[in-house]
Amino acid sequence: MSDQPTTPDRLAAFLADTARHFQGTLTPAGPQAWTLTNPAKHPNLLGPDGLTVSTDAEASLLDPELSLLAEGTPLLQTLVRRIREQGLSLFKGRYRWQWPAATVKARLKDGLIPARTRTTVSETDEISLRAVFRIRFHREFVQEDVLRLIVDGQGRSWSGARNLEGHEGLLEPVATLSLPWEQVQERYQRAVFAAEEALLPTIMDHKAELATLLKRETQRITTYYDEVEASGEYADEIDDPEAMAVALAALRKDRAKLLAEQRLRYQLGVQVQPVSLGLLHSTVTTVTIGDHAIVFHPLLADPILPICDGCARRVPVARFTPAPYCNTCAGLL
Ligand SMILES: [Zn+2]
Repeated sequence: MSDQPTTPDRLAAFLADTARHFQGTLTPAGPQAWTLTNPAKHPNLLGPDGLTVSTDAEASLLDPELSLLAEGTPLLQTLVRRIREQGLSLFKGRYRWQWPAATVKARLKDGLIPARTRTTVSETDEISLRAVFRIRFHREFVQEDVLRLIVDGQGRSWSGARNLEGHEGLLEPVATLSLPWEQVQERYQRAVFAAEEALLPTIMDHKAELATLLKRETQRITTYYDEVEASGEYADEIDDPEAMAVALAALRKDRAKLLAEQRLRYQLGVQVQPVSLGLLHSTVTTVTIGDHAIVFHPLLADPILPICDGCARRVPVARFTPAPYCNTCAGLL
């Protein structure tokens, strides 16, 4: 988004673009108000009855049916996000790389499972959705991050997807979409949810840091204004009690304004934006041990390990008896 001030005209133009993009229709619904209908392909995109919006804050306050479209409103952010998501093309193809048998063997031997464990190796073809999200944390500064994850053939999400840069030669486009559209959408929703879930700890960290900074700044401002008020220096040159009251009110207004500015400054904004989506057919290698499996998914950098029966973590297995136990739990249980 540009730094130019958003005028109602620019918002109206944005709305017209949005309607064109979604292939919906935009009809005037009053001064500075419009109704945006749902596109035929997505009859619920903007709610069951479409959306009636206004760029006039006062009008939207008076009419509960009227959503306000203004800079910084959730509505504008949602529309921008939806356009971006729709503008994103879905790559459909085959990913021709798979875990080499020798690498699988070497990884297993490298302490993933106990030596001499009886294993069976099988290969299956499946379609996964691979999603790359650009994450932006807006605070006093902007921090950017990239999140790569997949939703596998069974609809389970996994983070730690491989960076496919340099692997373009292994991606072979396929014309037909082998999954029903609803399922693709479901997997995409799952990916978005997984991305948000993965971000939660980082969000909490940012929020805690910001709360500390805000507290410090609030205290600094409060102490300063308390001192100025107590000393009376703001009215040193004034004798008239009425003028003094006016000066005091002005001082308090300054304080409130400054405090409000700090609250805004130390707010966290999080943007999760999909930048690459691929529906990829690939061959998955599964190593089975009894009822348990270690999955070597070609789109993931590391194998998916079974869950330890003791601590529920996915970590190397020390023994199967018959449930998997990690090193720590094997000694305790
Ligand atoms: Zn454990």
